[in-house]
Amino acid sequence: MTPPSDVSGDQADLPVVRLKPKADARAIRHGSPWVFSDELVLDRRTRALAPGTIATLEGADRVPIATVAVNPLSRIVARVLSRTPGRRIDRAWFADRIRVAQDLRKTLYDKDFYRLVHAEGDRLPGVVIDRFGDAAVVQPNAAWADRALDDLVAALVEVTGVSTVVKNGAGRARRLEGLPGVVEVLAGGVSGPVEVPMNGAIYLADLVGGQKTGLYFDQRDNHAFAAGLARGGRVLDVFAHVGGFSLAALAAGAASALAVDSSADALRLAEGGAAATGVADRFETLRADAFEALEAMGAEGRRFDLVVCDPPAFAPARQALDAGLRAYERVARLSARLVEPGGFLVLCSCSHAADLASFRQVSVRGIGRAGRRAQIIRTGFQAPDHPLHPRLAETGYLKALTFRLV
Ligand code: SAH
Repeated sequence: MTPPSDVSGDQADLPVVRLKPKADARAIRHGSPWVFSDELVLDRRTRALAPGTIATLEGADRVPIATVAVNPLSRIVARVLSRTPGRRIDRAWFADRIRVAQDLRKTLYDKDFYRLVHAEGDRLPGVVIDRFGDAAVVQPNAAWADRALDDLVAALVEVTGVSTVVKNGAGRARRLEGLPGVVEVLAGGVSGPVEVPMNGAIYLADLVGGQKTGLYFDQRDNHAFAAGLARGGRVLDVFAHVGGFSLAALAAGAASALAVDSSADALRLAEGGAAATGVADRFETLRADAFEALEAMGAEGRRFDLVVCDPPAFAPARQALDAGLRAYERVARLSARLVEPGGFLVLCSCSHAADLASFRQVSVRGIGRAGRRAQIIRTGFQAPDHPLHPRLAETGYLKALTFRLV
């Protein structure tokens, strides 16, 4: 194991930002990683700091608390990088953080395919890195990380030995930070989709054109559990992307799987993955709007032994919560009709704003409206390569409910 080396500060010349007296300095001293814009003194000097400036955070009493990254344009106006005030944020600092993150993944997985860095959860605020064997995809979703990208990438290559590094700057989070969207290859080269072994299947991940960073590693444990329910059965995988649930199910012995998605690119990768897994003869895809496909299959009286619905975030932010919950309920209602009595229904939500209790409530209501009764046999979350910062544990975003329907 590699101990973190937050040695004493050695960079005295950082700008200083200061908490307002009403801000909860103790929360930050005790590990809270964010300062909101109403907690910081936003005088003209602070407002003039370039987004991503590294600074020393002081309490209202002028006692230094931490080294932070400041973005006057963001509601999260400062993010704690180190509890050591005046810490130099350089390549060695990044290498320490990445090494600690890598130690966990090496413990969890025997192959180098995983989320290597999960932002605040790995004490690299706003930074997401996914590892695909010899390649890594970096999402610098906060301004400071964009500015420090050269050091970050150098440290990443040093620690992991990857030869290819892709910058994926297409996420919604970057817009909130005032950052432009870009995808570019920073090191090495990408000649086509990467084969990713996971749960006995082989997935194809497009590191430069795909959604997110190419693959949904966060669902790994939920894929595995669902796959175990599907042996010998018929599987419907709705919002399938590259076949996360369906290919795992086929690899585990499902009789057939139908993957539905609105993205032709994603389904092409799913078909390639099915071929690489050796299950193409049991795999079909349907490019369609999920709601229309569910309606149509319900009208036809189609039945499956396992139905999975893993939509994009219907409630990405609090303002969208009501509409999002209605959409989750509709998914539950339309999909429950398709489940053979005694079969299973997996309903997922990756919305931060919809918490487990409300997501479960609308899911149960939707199943009820379909005239079905259910047991909940498992509540799944994001895989452990997506650790939560303990002070932001409520930001655990992924929920996967497995129902058995009667
Ligand atoms: N289940 C996948 C991840 C799904 S991500 C896994 O486990 O790996 C959500 C997917 O929903 C994306 O592939 C996106 O293309 C698809 N999608 C979004 N809106 C859709 C719609 N209205 N109908 C069908 N698919 C949709």
